[in-house]
Amino acid sequence: METRDTVIIGSGCAGLTAAIYAARANLKPLVLQGHEPGGQLSLTTLVENFPGFPEGIQGPELIENMKAQAARFGAEFENGHVHRADLSKRPFALHLMGGKPSIHTSTLIVASGATARWLGLPHEQALIGHGVSSCATCDGFFFSGKEIAVVGGGDSAMEEALFLTRFATKVTVIHRREQFRASKIMLDRAQSHPKIHFITNTVVDDVYDVDKNEVTALKLRDVRNGHTQTFPTSALFLGIGHVPNTAIFDGQLTTDADGYLITRDYVLAGVPGVFACGDVADRRYRQAITAAGTGCMAAIEVEKFLEEQGR
Ligand code: NAP
Repeated sequence: METRDTVIIGSGCAGLTAAIYAARANLKPLVLQGHEPGGQLSLTTLVENFPGFPEGIQGPELIENMKAQAARFGAEFENGHVHRADLSKRPFALHLMGGKPSIHTSTLIVASGATARWLGLPHEQALIGHGVSSCATCDGFFFSGKEIAVVGGGDSAMEEALFLTRFATKVTVIHRREQFRASKIMLDRAQSHPKIHFITNTVVDDVYDVDKNEVTALKLRDVRNGHTQTFPTSALFLGIGHVPNTAIFDGQLTTDADGYLITRDYVLAGVPGVFACGDVADRRYRQAITAAGTGCMAAIEVEKFLEEQGR
């Protein structure tokens, strides 16, 4: 049975930075790319706040660059998705979906990130891919010349709304409160955009029309007085945050109430030899640069841990 020095679960900004550092430490890391290769940056457009790019850089390009950089130093990549991890003894065992051979590793870097949250509407799941989407970059183009609704009051919702103005004739942001969680600069940009309109204190109760297999309208409810209305739209984009991908570690790693991994000294995940980095363990900052920073820390801790174990 081959035992690897280190395996990285996740190929977003945190996982790839960990891969660069681990590869340069000659650990030949294996990166399991998961269901969403490249993570959230690969679903975004222009990244303006990653240091070193005065004009900004496209998210997918930034990710490709990191991947090439890690590969250059010997990192390996596999399209595997872990469905069960056994962290009860070392080497750790990772069982992959699709009957692929299990992987054994002395250390593990968890960089599995967080996945877009859904509203849980009665007909939401049935219309995903038919007008309901959590990724403006992926699906916005399909609604050229149409009216689009975006749900949420954070930076993601503002970013989606602004991006969707490239295609839509009108974008309506629907938010459940009066106050916005979005940063002032993003909110100002959205509020001053002529194509973007706002409906506040309002929630979406359902999306129509499953029979037509396309989005035609939303059922909206004003939370102040309970009044409902049917709001015509061709698409519903969600920008309501993310859920950390930690289900495979249930009962093995400690999480907070929302499922984010709890770490000590930045990246120590509570089981010797397991380190966590990026959004999976960060409910506060959730930025590309902080994910990269903790990815670096996790790889350095792996190196130290292996050294202490006499590698
Ligand atoms: P977020 O800041 O947690 O905002 C989520 C928004 O969705 C909140 O306004 C929340 O409403 C709303 N929401 C959550 N669940 C809902 C539900 N069930 N029904 C209706 N509304 C719901 O998440 P985010 O916007 O994804 O941002 C996450 C982090 O990434 C932030 O730190 C953000 O600054 C960063 N980010 C930055 C950029 C950028 O700088 N370009 C872009 C995207 C994200 P409440 O406010 O009422 O809770």
